[in-house]
Order: sequence, then structure tokens, then C-alpha cells
Amino acid sequence: MQTLSRVTPGTVISAIQIAQAIRENVLVRWKQNVPEDFKDAKTLFLADRGGMIYEPKIGLHENVVEIDFTSLYPAIMVRHNISPETVLCKCCADSKHRAPIIDYHICERRIGLIPRVLEPLINRRREYKKRVKDKDKEYNDHREIYEARKKALKWILVTCFGYMGYRNARFGRIECHEVINTYGRELLLNTARIAEDLGYEVLHGIVDSLWVKSSSNSNNHEKLCEKIFEQSGISVELEGIYKWIVFLPKRSDPTGALNRYYGLFENGEMKIRGLELRRSDTPPLIRDAQMDMLKVMARANDAAELQGRIPEVIEVVRGYADMIAKGECDLKDLVFTSVVSKDSEYYHQLNNNLACMLQLKNEGLKVRPGEQVKYIITDAESKRYNRKVKAWQLVKGNVRLLYDKKKYLAYLVRAAGNILAPFGYTERKLTEIIKPGRQLTLINSIQERSYQLSPFLRPE
Ligand SMILES: [Zn+2]
Repeated sequence: MQTLSRVTPGTVISAIQIAQAIRENVLVRWKQNVPEDFKDAKTLFLADRGGMIYEPKIGLHENVVEIDFTSLYPAIMVRHNISPETVLCKCCADSKHRAPIIDYHICERRIGLIPRVLEPLINRRREYKKRVKDKDKEYNDHREIYEARKKALKWILVTCFGYMGYRNARFGRIECHEVINTYGRELLLNTARIAEDLGYEVLHGIVDSLWVKSSSNSNNHEKLCEKIFEQSGISVELEGIYKWIVFLPKRSDPTGALNRYYGLFENGEMKIRGLELRRSDTPPLIRDAQMDMLKVMARANDAAELQGRIPEVIEVVRGYADMIAKGECDLKDLVFTSVVSKDSEYYHQLNNNLACMLQLKNEGLKVRPGEQVKYIITDAESKRYNRKVKAWQLVKGNVRLLYDKKKYLAYLVRAAGNILAPFGYTERKLTEIIKPGRQLTLINSIQERSYQLSPFLRPE
């Protein structure tokens, strides 16, 4: 297990597979890849359609359930006997067992290596899951361990799917990946249909997740899972039930964006995708501003309460705007972090990265491609490298540095607008609201700022 903590999931899976193969006297391939069999264009098209299945219904919703399909892929592999040597096997071209749409046949004579590896892992995970939920006193002392093991197994199992598609996976094969995809997609579409029959509305669907909204407050979720199991033989997992969730539009046009949303689960955790605060290059100030906005929102138990809290969220934005405008920001909160993609000679025009690199070069510090630069924006409009930004490494002690207030305000407005757009607060409207001279009423939330993501965020 110690070795496991230091290697990638792919290596773990490979190791488990090799161990199983050796135990069973299966010949392990030394070279890692089997070339893809020739595929015509239609097969490729059918197997590789885009990730979006149901375009999101933008805006605020409540009584929403998210169903996670990635955790189902291992079960699909076991149920449908998906393995490199069983998909398009040489022995049963007439097999009745065929993948939907792409029509690849699957072996009927033997059970593949992958299902043999996965089945015991799935069973063990199910047992841990049962013990975590079980009220039995016998398990009280170990529940945390079971929870951790359950999570570790999920991580290993989920990796298996992605791993099937990798070119250098020792046991992977692209056709397996395709077969799993088509089964997964079929399951997702069936699930959507079952959900609609039970009175749910489908809000958003991507390749491995589905969000459905219950039309009433009555809780049908158990029944939904039962029905899916009845029809597919696979037990689905709820990623969670949301008190409310907000699907966000694309930045370029008003249609829904793939995988951009934030929502509050019933257990108080938040799930956030596609916002600045999740990006490592975002300055702490902007991250904190979004986090503080979301903290206010997280106190809302339903959609109506959330609507009611929007003025308070606006006050948070104003508080930050005021701090930026007065020049009161802590310099370290303004630092952008960016990865350099090429040597300074190869840049055609001056941007923040180049300006920072040139300043460092003057001090004899070389930045190589792939390395990070850190800087504060001092005059975004400037064409001079020593004015545009200030390299963070060169900021000494308690020096007074004038940052570009206008630019940081623009970043704040943009970040706030990304959260608030579905509530009618566009960037333009926010810019108007935060103009200096407007009365400030509430800025206490700024005191609670922290430099880490708060514990209420659901980890990856
Ligand atoms: Zn066969």
C-alpha cells in the first residue's frame, strides 16, 4: 500500500491486472499497445460524439439530483464482459452479445481479464459502503477506515475506465473504451427516460453525469434508483441531492455552458465547476471574493432564500471593490501565477508573462518554458515591460507598490458577474453598482477571508 501512494492510478490498475494475469497464467504483453483495428468513419463518429448530451437549462433550480455515471463504468465492464481480449474476439464473431450502436461483438465463451479483476474490487467497495451506512455498533470504530477504503476503491475503479483509452495502457484498448462509452451513454439516456416517466425534468447531461429536477418536493429518488436497477441491472449512485444549483451560461453567448455551475448539497457541501476560484492562476483576492459570495449563498436553504440573499452577495462585491479602489489590498493577494510556454525571444508582443520574464532577466534570473512566473499588474495598458507588471520575486519587504486598480476592479466584476449573471447582474450592471461614492452598508464578510478553499467545498 505504501508504494500505491506514490504511483499514478494507472500504474496501480496495471499492477493489479498483471498480478491477476500471473495468478491465472495469462501471458502479459511486454509491448504496451495493440494497434487499433481499422475503423470506418461512421463507427468513429458514432463512438466519439461530443460530451454534451442535454444542454443545461441556465439559471437557478431546486430539488435537483445529480447521478454519477463514471462510478458505473466498472460495473458496466463486469456486466458486459468488456476486456481487450473479449471485445471483437476472434472466437465468436456471431456472438449475440453486441455493444449498442457501434455493434462490436463481445466474447460469449470466456470471461475477460478486466471483469475478473474488477468484480472483487466492486464487491469489496459495496461491502464498505454498506458498513459505512450500517447503524450496527460493531462497525462504529472503523467507519472512517471503511469510508477511506471505499473512496480509494472508487478512485481505482474510476481510473480503469479512462485508462482503457490510453495508448500506453498495458491492458487498454481503444475499442473497449468505445464499448464502455456506448453502454454508458445508453444507460444515461435510459435513465433520463425513466426519470421523466417518474415526473422529473432533465436539466443537464454530459457524458458521465445527469442532473434531474423533481417536480414536487416529494422524494422519488429511491424509486428512481430502483427503476434503473430493474432495467439495467446496474445500481446507480447519486452524486448528491442539491438544495439548489445554478447552471451558468457561456461567456460568449447566452446558451448553457458545458460543466459550469455551482450548487449546494443537502449536507452543506458545495460543488463548483468552471469558476475562477478553482483555477490556480487566479489571484487570491479574486478567489476570496468569489468564495465570500458563495459563503453568503450557502446559507440559503432553497431557491427563494437564495434570491433573497442576492443583495447581501452584492454587498460582498462592493466591499472588495471598495478595498481595491482605496488601495488597501494586501499585495500578496494580488499576485497572478502563470506558466510560461516559451522562451522570451519567441514572444511577438509584450504581455504580462513576457514583461515579468524580462524584469527577472535583468536581475540575472532565467525562466524556462514550463516554469511559473508570479506578478502584480501595475499598469495593464503600458507598453513598457518595467511598468506593465511587477515581478513578485522582486517586490521587497514593505515597499509601497501601486497596483492597477482599474484592472483589478475589472477582474472582480468579471468574476462576480460569472456567479451572478443568472440573477440579472451582468458585468455592466455590476460596474455601475460598484462605482466609488456609492454607499456601503455591509463589509464584515471580508474579515473572514482565508487563503485556502474553505472546508465546505467538496474535494475532487
Ligand atoms: Zn469469443
